[in-house]
Amino acid sequence: MSKKETRWSRRNFLKTTGVASLGSIISPMAGLARTAEKASVVPTRPFGKTGANVSILSLGGMFNIASNQLLMKQAMDWGVTYWDTADCYQRGSEKGIGKFFSRQPDAREKLFLVSKSDARDPDGMTQLLNRSLDRMKTDYIDLYFVHAVSNIDELDSRTKAWAEEAKAAGKIRFFGFSTHRNMEECLLEAARLGWIDGIMMTYNYRLMHSADMRRAVDACVKAGIGLTAMKTMGGGQVRTHSETELKLAGRFLKKGFTDAQAKLKAVWQNPQISSICSQMPNMTILMSNVAAALDKTQLSAGDIELLQQYAEETRSAYCTGCTDICESCVEGEASIGDVMRYLMYCNSYDDYKLAADSFNKIPQKIRRYLTDLDYSEAERKCPQGLPIAKLMQEAKKKLET
Ligand code: SF4
Repeated sequence: MSKKETRWSRRNFLKTTGVASLGSIISPMAGLARTAEKASVVPTRPFGKTGANVSILSLGGMFNIASNQLLMKQAMDWGVTYWDTADCYQRGSEKGIGKFFSRQPDAREKLFLVSKSDARDPDGMTQLLNRSLDRMKTDYIDLYFVHAVSNIDELDSRTKAWAEEAKAAGKIRFFGFSTHRNMEECLLEAARLGWIDGIMMTYNYRLMHSADMRRAVDACVKAGIGLTAMKTMGGGQVRTHSETELKLAGRFLKKGFTDAQAKLKAVWQNPQISSICSQMPNMTILMSNVAAALDKTQLSAGDIELLQQYAEETRSAYCTGCTDICESCVEGEASIGDVMRYLMYCNSYDDYKLAADSFNKIPQKIRRYLTDLDYSEAERKCPQGLPIAKLMQEAKKKLET
């Protein structure tokens, strides 16, 4: 592609993304911007044995914001053609996609579209699938997930029959689930089922090196299941109050990456992962992530080691979602893993609305006793050493409305 033809000439790159507001990140990204001059669109990888190729960066987030119509167009032009939403996402996310397809009818066939159902029963799933199709103004969804599975028993022979029927009716092409809790077990069990096409799971530089996660990912790849990583930031921004944190940020800045870009690269360096789903609510984050996807520089062994050192030093600030361990130690219902995730939305992603909306969906009878339960045994067994009782109190105080 000639320099004239490419969308990624540096001038256009800066002009399109609004350089005036980007002073703070252009400098460390200069290397990536130069790479972008040569590249055209985000690369793709095969998605399991489905036969589909998906962009290695997937557009996640809330789409029903007026300015996001422009963002969706730009994402598509840059090759971010795998889009992720869910029936339950607030602010009418699916309606934003529907609006986009109404204005750009040719766009649908260029995209790999995911949506999700909170329901588990066949009737509920049918109702939600039809609502998603209606909201997004499309006849089909490429990959349909059961949302937030924490135990594979949530999927049974009725689920399998439902998926086959929806495929036969042309309403979905592929079927699977997303998981934020007990991911390793869910992946291993899914590989044994034989009818799961794709999974989106929490996966990042903190989790990807454990023996359990490696085994689970290997099993899925062997079974031909396409894998999408989410929550790849592993809890948010690097804070700068330890030697390793300072070293980490300084090291990547010298190489031309931000720490966030390095965390994406760490995941992409595993070819078993087809794509990373990233919430990209504005053009700055989209540009930064696209630049990282286009750049071919690999993280060195030293970079990965430092990331692991940082993960170890900050382990007590990150919940790994192993709720089988802690929730069974508490007498009474306690959605510890979910509450930890909502706190992360608030404290690390600065998305108070999402955090509060999610927290207040927990049934009131569970919320009422959340801070009265005895978490001492759960804290003793928590592999991350999290102060669970204190965090439950923090969540209730900050997020309950
Ligand atoms: S609180 Fe601890 S035991 Fe519970 S899910 Fe999080 S890391 Fe695992």
